[in-house]
Amino acid sequence: MQCIQNYINGALIPPIKGNFMPNIDPSTGNIYAQIPDSDEEDVHLAMNAAKKAFPKWQKTTNAYRSALLMRLAALIERDLEKLALAECVDNGKPLALAKQMDIPRAAQNFQFFASAILHTATQAHAMGQIGVNYTLKQPLGVVACISPWNLPLYLFTWKIAPALAAGNCVVAKPSEVTPMTAFLLSQLAIEAGFPPGVLNIVHGTGNKVGTPLCMHEQVKAISFTGGTATGKKVAAAASPLFKKISLELGGKNPAIIFADCDYQKMLETTVRSSFANQGQICLCTSRIFVERSIFERFKIDFVERVKALLVGDPLESESKIGAIVSAQHYEKILDAIQEANEQGATILCGGRSHHPKGRCQAGYFIEPTVIEGLSNESSLNQEEIFGPIVTLIPFDTPYQALQMANDVPYGLAATVWTNALDKVNLLTQGLQTGIVWVNCWLVRDLRTPFGGMKNSGMGREGGWEALDFFSETKNICIQY
Ligand code: NAD
Repeated sequence: MQCIQNYINGALIPPIKGNFMPNIDPSTGNIYAQIPDSDEEDVHLAMNAAKKAFPKWQKTTNAYRSALLMRLAALIERDLEKLALAECVDNGKPLALAKQMDIPRAAQNFQFFASAILHTATQAHAMGQIGVNYTLKQPLGVVACISPWNLPLYLFTWKIAPALAAGNCVVAKPSEVTPMTAFLLSQLAIEAGFPPGVLNIVHGTGNKVGTPLCMHEQVKAISFTGGTATGKKVAAAASPLFKKISLELGGKNPAIIFADCDYQKMLETTVRSSFANQGQICLCTSRIFVERSIFERFKIDFVERVKALLVGDPLESESKIGAIVSAQHYEKILDAIQEANEQGATILCGGRSHHPKGRCQAGYFIEPTVIEGLSNESSLNQEEIFGPIVTLIPFDTPYQALQMANDVPYGLAATVWTNALDKVNLLTQGLQTGIVWVNCWLVRDLRTPFGGMKNSGMGREGGWEALDFFSETKNICIQY
């Protein structure tokens, strides 16, 4: 059985205490690898390696770091098939999705920031005859990157790439639920020729690795993506130590559909935005608000398409819905459906676990589920479930749709479907979300700021925002 190793000071090594945990394939429920159950001793080892590497790394030129990151991106592209298969087995997502989205995006993350640092400039403020100020962007030192299980390599590299590009050394922790592609990345970092200590990857749980990492005195910044409850703990640990923190947290994303929209495009996209990756993308739609005049039509068409989504073995190309990531998460989603039932919801389709014939019979599959009849105030419409469940709610006016869309503790992303400019303006101005997609979903441009409002997080990632986050801004004033 494969034994995942930590990547510390340029070498693949077991955890100091030698403890491992099982790594489970959610599509079968079988243990298929072992993960280091590291603790603060391993974190210290990685921190020391990163600290030692920093003085030399921070002096490297942007061109040098750019070339190294490009080399890593090329290796990811070379190993696309292998990495996609690993992601599929580790996470339960359809192989086709990992090939088309997760792994290409991991390579693009490195390419994007590798090229961005070749085009940076900083400000200067001339003071007439008196003198001049200019601004430097300097690396922070050692930074921590902590990522979740839903888009494992995609989000892990989304943090590591700008941190390294900006000249920092990194100690990174992938989710213990999906560690495999982070391990494969460490092998590729060695092959690419990363200097020892520049990138370190410590595997383990949130309590034993995440907490000591967030509290380590040498960590200057923490980029965290995960649940809102965990984000609060990270903020509580890091804030008294005055670390920079970027928090990308949960969501409860609305889609607002008006009768005048491009109906077919909206329908196909809303099926995707609701159920891609089993609904386990932070940007997935979970509440669908539909203008009352087309509510019944939409309901019939939507449910028909959702019923046609094939749930099953993620290795099979026909499977559109793979396995839920873990037994624990599977139970949580089924409990939420049960609670909706108890609250008098109508399950229009799905609502049950699914047991495909063959090798995946004991896997964690749930049918894509469409629910109506619950108010926006119900717990199902207020709390993040992060699974293949959406609710339908009719609305009568744009103002009512806006009010309900905003009436949740979260504010990550929203989707608006209309061809009327006045409604576009009203909604895009009024929605309390960090991202609004109009007549589309998940159309990404890596230069744009990415992040949420309210309980969906703090700060922005992406583009210059990410490079800024991982830099210290220093003003120099020279008198003539
Ligand atoms: P999680 O919060 O349970 O775990 C995220 C990471 O934090 C893991 O690596 C975990 O080990 C670590 N962790 C746990 N406790 C910690 C602690 N006390 N200190 C430091 N680290 C700790 O989240 P998850 O279940 O892995 O992921 C799902 C969540 O992530 C959902 O809420 C989803 O909305 C969110 N998410 C948000 C975005 C975004 O960009 N806003 C993107 C993807 C996922």
